[in-house]
Amino acid sequence: MLSIADLIQYRRKRERLIEMVVEVDLPTAYGHFKLRLYTSAPDGMDHLALIKGDVAGDSAPLVRVHSECLTGDVFGSCRCDCGNQLHAAMSMVEQEGRGVILYMRQEGRGIGLANKLHAYKLQEGGLDTVEANVKLGFAPDLRDYGVGAQILADIGLKRIRLMTNNPKKLIGLQGYGLEIAERVPVVFEPGDHNRRYLETKKSKMGHLF
Ligand SMILES: [Zn+2]
Repeated sequence: MLSIADLIQYRRKRERLIEMVVEVDLPTAYGHFKLRLYTSAPDGMDHLALIKGDVAGDSAPLVRVHSECLTGDVFGSCRCDCGNQLHAAMSMVEQEGRGVILYMRQEGRGIGLANKLHAYKLQEGGLDTVEANVKLGFAPDLRDYGVGAQILADIGLKRIRLMTNNPKKLIGLQGYGLEIAERVPVVFEPGDHNRRYLETKKSKMGHLF
């Protein structure tokens, strides 16, 4: 018996799901990058890659696969650590002179912005981030790394050093012709607002700190 999930998995591994649209120069407060926009064929979503230096081939550059978090990335929300992780990763790539930040538009672990804010509301009533997602009827993590893996392959990456604290990303990215040579942790001191969030990530989602 072949399940629908198996079929989707099979198609994602074999069909080309992405298209490169445009590349521009992007100087930022954290470094100077090329910014590439890709579209994903299944859903028409735009995903972005910040690329620095010569990253193609087996030389294992630093790579971060970052999931969009509007509140954290743009407003500097202290309810999570996304903004800090994104900017630290950009600085690390800048310092090393090469690497890739892949910015995946999968807000709130894939549940979307409105649902993420509903989950925040439930957390204000005492639930943690995993309990809140489950209460809204979502699996704790809906992110799919197949599209991301195809973008990294299109950029020419074969071996990477992945900047992450999340072991699921390691599993999610393997099996698409990408070899993860090393996991490079992105570590922060928890603040007063995100301490419980970070503890939940560690105890319930297997994050490594
Ligand atoms: Zn966040």
